[in-house]
Amino acid sequence: MVVVMDIEATEEQVQEVNQRLADYGFSSHLIRGVNRIVIGAVGDRSRMGEMGLELLPAVEKVVPIMAPYKLASREARGGPGQVPVGNTVFGGPEMVVIAGPCAVESEEQLMVAAARVGEAGARILRGGAYKPRTSPYSFQGLEKDGLELLARVGRKTGLATVSEVMDRESLDQAVAYVDMLQVGARNMQNFKLLKAVGRTGKPVLLKRGLSATIEEWLMAAEYIMTEGNGNVVLCERGIRTFESYTRNTLDLSAIPLVKRLSHLPVIVDPSHATGDRRLVPPMAAAATAAGADGLLIEVHPDPPRALCDGAQSLDPGQFASLMITIKQVAAAVGREV
Ligand code: PEP
Ligand code: MN
Repeated sequence: MVVVMDIEATEEQVQEVNQRLADYGFSSHLIRGVNRIVIGAVGDRSRMGEMGLELLPAVEKVVPIMAPYKLASREARGGPGQVPVGNTVFGGPEMVVIAGPCAVESEEQLMVAAARVGEAGARILRGGAYKPRTSPYSFQGLEKDGLELLARVGRKTGLATVSEVMDRESLDQAVAYVDMLQVGARNMQNFKLLKAVGRTGKPVLLKRGLSATIEEWLMAAEYIMTEGNGNVVLCERGIRTFESYTRNTLDLSAIPLVKRLSHLPVIVDPSHATGDRRLVPPMAAAATAAGADGLLIEVHPDPPRALCDGAQSLDPGQFASLMITIKQVAAAVGREV
């Protein structure tokens, strides 16, 4: 860290800071500039808070240098990492496309969706069994029956599966059925849940919170990783802004930024980011061009009849044409689909 001190600081005040740093096991180095006195300090960052350096006289600010997300940081690995799920890998040369309905509604609905997205090149089947709905009167998901259907259809079509868990109860159910656990935007800071999914050791798809900063998102990943589970894939799904013509605002800059900060693969969900099926293909293409390691696309056999998120769902034909575009864009930036 760097401690910036007022140029008027007295020798005693500088000594007081140095002493405090030494008491906490930090080594320090003094730099006298023209406008500032700066003390560079090296030690255990987790003790920064308890030291209370900001409270000492003549200290202007304390600036941390190392990222607070130790396991998720790029330096922790020295390069990009890979997360295997089923027989596919996130973070490799191939972009991984996850597709399927917002919610599992019936065996027929899921089977048609799975067969068609698989044919078009999707590698993982999604389907919500426990749905976090804004209204308690909306369809809440088929729960355990939904997980059973997802597992059965996944087996039949050869697709790996992912489904959202909302709490300990849904987590305990889902571990036995799915290949990847999804933590949704609304639960990104449910720290107990993050630790619990971490303990399962299963790959986790961690969505960005509705209003989460990049650092908060990476700290959420850190919670999973501190339980010994490094198989985390981050998913940018749009953030809340003042704009009301789209459901959320897709933060495309998050892709290259997170890739610079972290070794974790990053995918993009243009369906929840826009809330509008007409905006999904161009945003999927943009995410691909920006270097996303994969996409999550909502696909329903009959979107007007969907029990959840029909307006943002593609039908299988629209999904197939999206995949053709994505393959071309991916090729242009040196990736495969
Ligand atoms: C979902 O993927 O079905 C979902 C609810 O997404 P989010 O958590 O991003 O809103
Ligand atoms: Mn949805």
